[in-house]
Amino acid sequence: MEITKKELAKQFAKDWEKHYALKVFKDRGFIRKQCKICGKHFWTVDKDRDVCGDSTCMPYSFIGKKIGWAHDYVDAWREFARFFQKHGRTVIPRYPTIARWRDDTWFVQASIYDFQPHVVSGESAPPANPLVVAQPCFRFNDIENIGVTNRHLSSFVMIGQHNFISEARRDWKDEDVGLVIDCIKHFKIPEKELTFVESVWMGGGNAGPAFEVFVGGMELLTAVFMQYSIEDGKLKELPLKIIDFGWGLERLAWLLNGTYTSYEVIFDPVDKKFAKQIGFERDLEFLKALSKVNSNLDLNETEDIDLALKDAAEKIGIPLEEFKTKIKQLQAFYSILDHSRTLLFALADGALPSNTGGGYNLRVILRRALRLAEEQGWKIDLKWLVREHAQALYGKPAPRVVTGLSKEELLEAQLMPMYPELRQALPDVEKILDVEIKKYFESKSRTSQLLAKILEKKELSNEELIQLYNSHGIFPEDVVSEAAKLGKTVKIPANFYSQLTASHVAAPKKELPTIKLKFKAKGTKPLYYENDRLFEFEAKVLEIVDDRYVVLDKTAFYPTSGGQSCDIGTINDVCAVLDVQKQGQVIIHEVEPVKFKVGEIVKCKIDETRRLQLMRHHTATHILNGICRRELGSHIWQAGAEKTVEKARLDITHYQNLTDEELKKIELLANEVVLSAIPVNKFFLPRPEAEKRYGMRIYQGGAVPGAEIRIVEIPGLDVEACGGIHCSNTLEVGPIKILGSKKIQDGIIRLEFVAGKRAIEEFQTEGALLKEATQIFNVQPEHLPKTCARFFKEWKEQRKEIEKLKKGQK
Ligand SMILES: [Zn+2]
Ligand SMILES: [Zn+2]
Repeated sequence: MEITKKELAKQFAKDWEKHYALKVFKDRGFIRKQCKICGKHFWTVDKDRDVCGDSTCMPYSFIGKKIGWAHDYVDAWREFARFFQKHGRTVIPRYPTIARWRDDTWFVQASIYDFQPHVVSGESAPPANPLVVAQPCFRFNDIENIGVTNRHLSSFVMIGQHNFISEARRDWKDEDVGLVIDCIKHFKIPEKELTFVESVWMGGGNAGPAFEVFVGGMELLTAVFMQYSIEDGKLKELPLKIIDFGWGLERLAWLLNGTYTSYEVIFDPVDKKFAKQIGFERDLEFLKALSKVNSNLDLNETEDIDLALKDAAEKIGIPLEEFKTKIKQLQAFYSILDHSRTLLFALADGALPSNTGGGYNLRVILRRALRLAEEQGWKIDLKWLVREHAQALYGKPAPRVVTGLSKEELLEAQLMPMYPELRQALPDVEKILDVEIKKYFESKSRTSQLLAKILEKKELSNEELIQLYNSHGIFPEDVVSEAAKLGKTVKIPANFYSQLTASHVAAPKKELPTIKLKFKAKGTKPLYYENDRLFEFEAKVLEIVDDRYVVLDKTAFYPTSGGQSCDIGTINDVCAVLDVQKQGQVIIHEVEPVKFKVGEIVKCKIDETRRLQLMRHHTATHILNGICRRELGSHIWQAGAEKTVEKARLDITHYQNLTDEELKKIELLANEVVLSAIPVNKFFLPRPEAEKRYGMRIYQGGAVPGAEIRIVEIPGLDVEACGGIHCSNTLEVGPIKILGSKKIQDGIIRLEFVAGKRAIEEFQTEGALLKEATQIFNVQPEHLPKTCARFFKEWKEQRKEIEKLKKGQK
């Protein structure tokens, strides 16, 4: 039986003393009241208050008259962090915006994403506890609203206030709620402005009570208590309870400054420099007037946008056309600021714009920024914008002598850089922008002709507009202007861009193993990690299914995983092991014929030559991945890999084809790593320890399961979470030879290569071909190219001569 959020809200409201009447409220003089407008219950210190504090029940009260202690954007975070640190919270560095440790989403959309699934499930310890983190998050569902309302963004910083509580404590909610109240007071916000509105949270089969916390008419944070799992429609207490409070840094900073829009605080001082550069003057009077009406201009929620615009223009008292022009300018101005900031975060974290997956949305906003600028006739420099953002997000420049200060001391002195990694990533970010901007203008020059052709034939539906963008990168605005030339009109939905981006947030699930049978066995003990050179062993047969699929109590046969092909070999010398796969903890051997019984002890033998070749190819993959990242930039991630006996391939995220020069250099450097005889370290680490020590870079092959993860490290070059079987020293890999590279899809380049004995075979084949060719021409190898060229030239000339003669005969 399912339970709905509405039903749960009813249940919690009935039992409000249990779920919402916290001890901390009583201690601090908060009382429970009911909103006279929406009917919701809320907690306040103000006896006379009769509205809950939601913006639908009261207008923003801080616009034009700030509430509290003014801090700029970065300083608001520093002050927040300083406050929480003093109260025993660890301030941890942010996670990347690209969620490589998860296989269900491309982007981080809330601070709790950092800890899903492994910490939230209780499988793995958090990096610190309790903690706060300033986590940049992406949301692409409100793109058109940016600059139109005064608060929408595609990237924002959610300050996560998290506490993971595994011991049973009745007062587990009080401490964090108390800190919220104290933090509000610390920012000199009058306590009576603060309301806690009773609410419910549900997600991923879990639920719990929650508060929407309002100040001055704006929701400043959502305070969620992950308390229950829902089983058969009933609530069951979770063993690990989680405080999941998400503060909007943008909102906090806005509140403290009381500007007309949140953007003036968030983008300061970049917005002022940008305005000057493009010669755009913001009309503050208009912004002021607009701030009173723009909550009605939410393009995704307002049904009749034309009517809403007309209404707003009337209220402000300016003609509709002028109003629309001004709104368009603001939309362009703040969208460009927003999109460039989002791109900075994403590209610095190793994402690439593309036409598939998560990169799709990045390309949409990049092109939209360029488009909007063109429409306004502004000459913009995206590279300059990202540089300015990176500086602004670093914080005020620190004085020269700050060396030797700890993180805590820097924070105390309000000098801790907020996101120093953004400045470091700038060279790579700018390179990617260059390539992308070039691609945009190239595709644009093709647009006009193509469109004319299409428009002559037919009217375009919404789906066809989306299709046009997807297949040709054509924007609907181009369709409109091109159609106008032909005297036709095309209507674009107000939320076109949100429609584009909505489908590119979640990531596809991984493929499952192909053997889909049920096994009774609980698990198989793997022997290949303890000893990667164990090629013969004895094991007991636990189970045989379909007279073909065999489970042993332990095995040294490596199952296909992480792109490494499985081992093959024999059991009792006569039964061939054809395939090995892993299902959960069970390792399944596909055997033909099965000439043994359950309970028998069998003698297993692994094809040693094959395994050694696979190990070489796998370690070579890690070496090449490390070299590519070092040579091509930090945007290089492994997008896929496969290691078979014949050859290996590595797909990397890169924006353009590799030149022969680049390939030559990569091959040379990879072989230098081999010759340097670097030991390859393989060990298990608890997940938080591994992430702390090496960062999210370890997730090259995507998300990996388990509380303990296996690390494969080539010191100084590459560290990956990898379950594969590797050489113990780079020298064992032998020569690495790159066979070639090609672009397999937008933003992904495939390298094919061989290593060890297979590389020698390649050299020999090439050598033999060369020898054969030199024998034909009867020259030394070094003269071969010249000789070939000469023969080719002569042959062409002779052919021409023959043609001429033939014509002459006619
Ligand atoms: Zn209300
Ligand atoms: Zn690997």
